Amino acid sequence: MNTTARPLENRVALVTGASRGIGAATAKALHEAGAAVVLAARDAAALSALATEINDAGGRALPVPTDVTDADAVERLIRRTMEEFGRLDAAVNNAAGGGHRPMPLADVDVDDFDSAMAVNLRGVFVAMKHEIPAMLEGGGGAIVNMSSTAGLQAVGGLAAYVSSKFALIGLTRSAALDYAEAGVRINALAPGPILTEQLQAAGEQAQRMAAGAIPARRIGRPEEVAAAAVWLCSDAASFITGAALPIDGGKLAGMAPFARPPAPASAAGPGDKAPA
Ligand code: NAP
Repeated sequence: MNTTARPLENRVALVTGASRGIGAATAKALHEAGAAVVLAARDAAALSALATEINDAGGRALPVPTDVTDADAVERLIRRTMEEFGRLDAAVNNAAGGGHRPMPLADVDVDDFDSAMAVNLRGVFVAMKHEIPAMLEGGGGAIVNMSSTAGLQAVGGLAAYVSSKFALIGLTRSAALDYAEAGVRINALAPGPILTEQLQAAGEQAQRMAAGAIPARRIGRPEEVAAAAVWLCSDAASFITGAALPIDGGKLAGMAPFARPPAPASAAGPGDKAPA
């Protein structure tokens, strides 16, 4: 087992939704762990900037602009990966999009429901459909699908997102059973509120409210999700498959104590100084 600081040395990893947020942080963390990284999302300029950053730091990054709702494009993405690197050892299927703003189910537009399913569920199905054979060619691999705490505990007003993230955990477990014996491990991560673009744009008050609902009294950082993704892709997690791991400061563990003092003034909180 490789337990060094670079547990993914000589491996090739692919990240969807790598243009920003958790996906970009995960691509950087995979690179720091020693992997060559394939970067997929729609924003070609953002992918290219991230690839330059990684390559300038001595890594190997290949940007492949891809819309995961386009099954042919996803197939091309894996083919391009194999042409460039000759193998695929790890994949983090992280892209998410579509959907609707919070509203009761009967008000949700059918097209908006379908759009969330197309990216968050079908996009991951199609990605795994091509990633798995590529991994089998190399004798095995590891896949991490990015669900959400909303994929384990429903949130009102988010019918499409919640359905897609619950279904993604079912898809993950089904695939894990299909390929456990063949040596492809497939797990899901379930982040709670993480400080990326959406929560940044929502403003400090929204961040404080989100932090107040977390036992750790803060929201998470993209690097904290990335670290778990790297670990699940590494041999350190060699007997873990079919799992759905919350990364949520204790949110899904249960209710916080009743008699706790009011939420801190800053969403960051003392725990924000925790190492990545
Ligand atoms: P984000 O900032 O909205 O980034 C989403 C990523 O997905 C972007 O790179 C985007 O790139 C890509 N994407 C969207 N539609 C795509 C498509 N059709 N094809 C290819 N790529 C597409 O999200 P985030 O906050 O980093 O979250 C990342 C993942 O974590 C998501 O699966 C999200 O559901 C999950 N999550 C996040 C939180 C949170 O609080 N942040 C909590 C729980 C779960 P382009 O626009 O360039 O295509």
